[in-house]
Amino acid sequence: MKTVSYPAGNVLLRDLSRPYPVVSHGEGVWLYDQDGQRWLDGSSGAFVTSVGHGNREVVAQIAEQLGRVGYVNGMQFTSEATESLAQRLAAHAPPGLDRAVFLASGSEAVEAAIKFARQLWYDRGEPQRDVVIARAPSYHGNTLYALSISGRPHYKQVYGPLLSEVVTVSSPYPYRSGLEDYAADGAAHYAAELEAAIVAAGPDRVALFVAEPVIGSSAGASVPPPGYFEAMTTVCRKYGVLVLADEVLCGIGRTGHFFASNALGLAPDLLVFGKGIGGGYAALAGFLAKTAHVDEMRAASGKFMHAQTYMHAPMMTGAGVAVMDYLEAHDVVANARALGEVLQQELAARVGGLPHVGCVQGMGLLAGIEVVENVATKAPFPRRAKVAERLTARCFDAGLIVWPNVGQANGTDGDLLMIAPPLTITRAEIDELVDRLVAALRLPWETA
Ligand code: PLP
Repeated sequence: MKTVSYPAGNVLLRDLSRPYPVVSHGEGVWLYDQDGQRWLDGSSGAFVTSVGHGNREVVAQIAEQLGRVGYVNGMQFTSEATESLAQRLAAHAPPGLDRAVFLASGSEAVEAAIKFARQLWYDRGEPQRDVVIARAPSYHGNTLYALSISGRPHYKQVYGPLLSEVVTVSSPYPYRSGLEDYAADGAAHYAAELEAAIVAAGPDRVALFVAEPVIGSSAGASVPPPGYFEAMTTVCRKYGVLVLADEVLCGIGRTGHFFASNALGLAPDLLVFGKGIGGGYAALAGFLAKTAHVDEMRAASGKFMHAQTYMHAPMMTGAGVAVMDYLEAHDVVANARALGEVLQQELAARVGGLPHVGCVQGMGLLAGIEVVENVATKAPFPRRAKVAERLTARCFDAGLIVWPNVGQANGTDGDLLMIAPPLTITRAEIDELVDRLVAALRLPWETA
C-alpha cells in the first residue's frame, strides 16, 4: 500500500481530497514511507515529537513502565511515575505552580484548568465570576469550550451554535500590530485594551485571562513585546483576575526554555502543557496549579471536581518521565536554545528576503513565516487562493513537512508557514531543512 485516498479503506481521513502516504517508520527528524521515501519532519508533526522519532531510549523506558503497570484509576491509586512527573515539572515551573493534573490532550487540559479557575471562584464565594477573557487570533483546542475561547473565526463558523460566549482582546502580532513601535509601546497598548475589556465586562465578573506566552498555530510563533506579560498580569491582579498560560505548544523546551513563561516574565496562576511532554510516545497533557489555591478548594468543597478515565494514568505519565529523562540526559533544551538561534538567523537571512515573504519571526525552535501578496502594503492573498496549503504541499513534495496557518491577517485571509523541528535536531539537519524550504519557496509558484 503506497498511498490511501478516500474512499479507500475505513478511516475517516482528515482531508477527503488528497492521497496519504503510509508511514513506515521514523528516526530522529526523519519519517519514511514504505518505499523508503523520506521527509524531514520540520513541524514535529503537530509540534509533538520533541525527542525525535523512533527514540529507543524513550521506548525502552516506557515498555518497562507498561510491563509493571499501565493503568490505574486516579480515584484509587497514585503511582511513582505520576508523582515523579509532577515533581519534575513543578521544579521547572514559574513560582508556586506545584500541583499537577495529567490528562490525555491539550484541549481537555485547557478545559480542566478553566474549570479549576471557575471552581476556585465558586468556592471563594464569588460565583458571579464566569467571564473568561482570551485573545484573537488564538488556538486553545477543538473541544467545545476550548474552541469557544479560541480566536479563530473560520474554525467556529459551523459549530457556532454549540459554543459559549467569551470576551476577546487582540493578540500581540508584531507584523500586523499597527503600532509604530511595537517593542516600545506594545506592552502598554495591549494592557490598556485588556483593562478596558475587564471594565466593560464588569470587573467582579471576570474569572480568568487566557494566553499563550509565544503564540502557536494561530499567529505563527508571535513573540510578545518586552514587558507585555508583566503589564497584562498587573492589570489582572488589579481586578483579582486569574491568569492561565497555555504552553501546550510553546512549552517543554520548544522556545529554548523549558517553559516559555519563565523567559517572558509571566507568573501565571495556571499553566497548561501537552504535546512535547509525551513526545508522540503517549497522549499526555495536563496543567499545573498552586497548592495555595488547592488548599482553598479543599477547605470549601473537599476536592477539585473534575475526573476523566485517563487522568494520572501511569501509561501516560511514565512516557512523560521517559521524555523528561531523555531531555535531561542529553541536554536537549540547551540544544533547542543554541540551535534555535541558528534556525532563526538562517530563516531571517535566507527566507526573509524571498519574494512574498512578509515577515519571519519566532523564538527557539519555533518559527513562523508570513507570506503576503504585496510585501509593500502587507496585503494578504485572498483565502480562496489557499496559498499556505499549496506551499505546504510544495514543501511536502520536496521532502519537508511544515505547518500551515491561515486567517491571521483579518480572521479569514492570511498565510503562514510554521517551522518547529524535533528539539534533538542537529546543525547539519537545520541546514538541510532551510535548504529544502528555500527551494520550495522559490518562485515560480502559482499565486492565483
Ligand atoms: N493549546 C494550544 C496552544 C495548542 O496549540 C493546542 C493544539 O494545537 C491545544 C491547546 C489543544 O491540544 P490538543 O490538540 O492536544 O487537544
